[in-house]
Amino acid sequence: MYEIIGLEDLRPEQIQNKRVFVRVDFNVPIQNGQVGDITRLRASLPSIQYLIKNKAIVILASHLGRPKGKPNSEFSLKPVAKAFEQILGQSVSFFPDCIGADVKDAIHKLSPGSVCLLENLRFYAQEEANDEAFSKELASLAEVYVNDAFGTAHRAHSSTVGIVKFLRPAIAGFLMEKEIRELGSLLSRPERPFTSIIGGSKVSSKIDILSSLIDKSDVVLVGGGMSYTFIKAQGGKIGQSLCEDDKMKVALELIEQARKKGTALIFPQDNLCVNNFDDKSENPQPILAGQIPDNMTGCDIGPISSENFARYISESKTVLWNGPVGIFEDSRFASGSKAIAAALVKLQKNGGKTIIGGGDSAAAVAGFGYHDNDFGHISTGGGASLEFLEGKILPGIEVLDKA
Ligand code: AMP
Repeated sequence: MYEIIGLEDLRPEQIQNKRVFVRVDFNVPIQNGQVGDITRLRASLPSIQYLIKNKAIVILASHLGRPKGKPNSEFSLKPVAKAFEQILGQSVSFFPDCIGADVKDAIHKLSPGSVCLLENLRFYAQEEANDEAFSKELASLAEVYVNDAFGTAHRAHSSTVGIVKFLRPAIAGFLMEKEIRELGSLLSRPERPFTSIIGGSKVSSKIDILSSLIDKSDVVLVGGGMSYTFIKAQGGKIGQSLCEDDKMKVALELIEQARKKGTALIFPQDNLCVNNFDDKSENPQPILAGQIPDNMTGCDIGPISSENFARYISESKTVLWNGPVGIFEDSRFASGSKAIAAALVKLQKNGGKTIIGGGDSAAAVAGFGYHDNDFGHISTGGGASLEFLEGKILPGIEVLDKA
């Protein structure tokens, strides 16, 4: 799908003593000045360590949050530099800007094998506007461009797209390469049977991925808030459960698409329901799908569905999971997602291939205590994974040098 060039395709003299601009995804949660989940920082290590070993001057650049184009200390990457220093085991110079003469001077003083992190790219509105002058300024800091930020590859910003006009070679980092390889092979040649599990809150945000996966999978299991729109569209009673009435027509079209394609499109047979979600003392009740009383809300798939979904997973060779099947943030409604995670881990151990398609399902498995290596691949991108799996061309990948 994408014939891009990776770090190992460059000759040593293209890296040694060269200033290398690495677009990383260091958009990590920060609370009271402390970095929370460090998954994204760890994921960027292989490229950075490779560049250090090969004596490059490593310039790391990232966005953090949504500072709306203005400097805002709440979104400073300074605490991230500190946290990353510990993970990397060597000093990381932090520069309080991402462009300008001072930054340039400071970079020119760095010796080969050293690492610096620039301040939040989104402190400039020009970043998200993919402004040409800003892109040129960023490019002027370096001699080589590496994009290892798969999570922002679906955005055409200065640091992901505009910069490439002024800075080549422009290649993919190891993390980016791995994402393209893993997600790409899933779409082009999955070992069959291939099952996709799609959850999350809304049908509206998952129409394209559902349609793409109905075409490519043998089985598609649908859970989460989005399943109720399908159930209501087929005449079922869903009580107060999440529903997008204006998407019922699309839901029926997707069911028809699956029927024509011969893909098994499977919905939950039961749900865990409550009268009042906010009453934490209320015990959820399993209720058959399509029979939820008017005053109740479905918040997770029920035990019959968990078992059924786990059986489909065990009978597959490849499984992709995108989106939790319940409100897993509340432990009362995590059992369905837990059952799926456990079934995936078992399949992976038995030689199957499991892929977690980023975002909330990645957070869910981490919260359940699983590790990266319990699965075949955990995508680091939320929106980017989704768009890739929808079959879209991601602009940040499209602009990189081709093999
Ligand atoms: P998404 O960002 O669309 O993948 O949705 C993820 C969110 O869907 C998570 O925060 C879940 O809490 C939520 N979710 C899953 N199942 C349900 C449900 N039955 N009702 C409401 N929200 C749900």
